[in-house]
Amino acid sequence: MNRHDEDTERTFAALPPAQGRGFARTWWGRAWLKSLEDAAMDTAQVKTGRRLARAGAVGAVSVRPGRITAVVQDRDRTAHRADVLLEELSDTQWDRFVDLAIERSGHVAALLDRDMPPHLVEDAATAGIDLLPGMGDLEPECDCGAWDHCGHTAALCYQVARLLDQDPFVLLLMRGRAESAVLDALQSHGGAPAEDGARPPDGVDAAEAYATGHVLPPLPAPPAVPDAPGVPPSLDTGTAPPPGVDPAALGFLASRAAAEAHRLLAAALRGGHERQAVGTEPDASEDAVRLAAGDPAPDVSRRLGEGSGRTPESLDAAVRAWRLGGGAALYVLEQEWTVEGDTLARARAALESAWDEDERPALRARGNRWTVVGEPHQLRLDREGRWWPYRKERGRWVPAGGAAHDPATALASAAPAVGDEP
Ligand SMILES: [Zn+2]
Repeated sequence: MNRHDEDTERTFAALPPAQGRGFARTWWGRAWLKSLEDAAMDTAQVKTGRRLARAGAVGAVSVRPGRITAVVQDRDRTAHRADVLLEELSDTQWDRFVDLAIERSGHVAALLDRDMPPHLVEDAATAGIDLLPGMGDLEPECDCGAWDHCGHTAALCYQVARLLDQDPFVLLLMRGRAESAVLDALQSHGGAPAEDGARPPDGVDAAEAYATGHVLPPLPAPPAVPDAPGVPPSLDTGTAPPPGVDPAALGFLASRAAAEAHRLLAAALRGGHERQAVGTEPDASEDAVRLAAGDPAPDVSRRLGEGSGRTPESLDAAVRAWRLGGGAALYVLEQEWTVEGDTLARARAALESAWDEDERPALRARGNRWTVVGEPHQLRLDREGRWWPYRKERGRWVPAGGAAHDPATALASAAPAVGDEP
């Protein structure tokens, strides 16, 4: 005796006309419609069905194990009872399905989240359990007397595709088990979460995501990148801002965010990728420099300096570094580190081989910094083995150019070019 008898019929109210909407947005909804469209002998009936469903001609839909039913109205208002039959799974098949569902941690959570994991459906199919109908599995019965799908049974299938999109348990009910029975079985076999219901899945199994590849439609074409970032809305509303809110700073932040989004989108669509600072997430201090590099108004610039603990001079140097090489260059400007072991040996070898003996400058090392003796020039080694040129200006070391793998190349850009000498 099944104690879920009262759950084994679900009735869904008629849906409003579906203007312009597709009928199946989920992969399982599309698979459902495919079995109808592939099997119908008369494609005109399928089209009629789609039109009827779209126009709202399908009445309340009853879903029971093995059968869906609705009254469908023709355009001339004649009503027809349409049924579509689908084979139920056996008890053995259900047991096997439940076992498959609890084999992977994400499956039950996904089902509770009204998602149908493709991997689960495939595993089930491999085990001889067809959840989704194949070609010809949707068997029509209609009082209009058609022997194949008619517009009425096709309309019913289209309507049910909309229901399936919302809730894959509708499919499980057609295959013989109500949601409560499925959840009970999952719980007694493997302890599915029941109390807090729709818990989101913790990530997706990589194999599962890969398996989705051939059932999902191709990604839509990427959007065209606008020539310039958009302009944020004006905050000048004529109303005085509340205390502590600085509209100019907000406007600046919004315009920088738009510019950054535009840059990232353009880079992504070029197929390039942006190099992030080595091993570091941008933090607030780094972000202040990124923002300051966007030419803010002097007031905003001053706040960025104060907020990140930098003097105007050190913020200037930081901005200069940022423009030369982003987070990696900023790290070299502001952090000193000890070079040891293999890295030190490699650095020394690079310095040795960069110059002929008689041209090699005398270098004094401290940490990752090599200063040219008697000259306001310096080389700084970064964590990736690149050399950054530095120059002393008004008693402070400032970045003088981009990084190079060859120390001689880097040092050449530390010295001002001929003609730049004051
Ligand atoms: Zn019919």
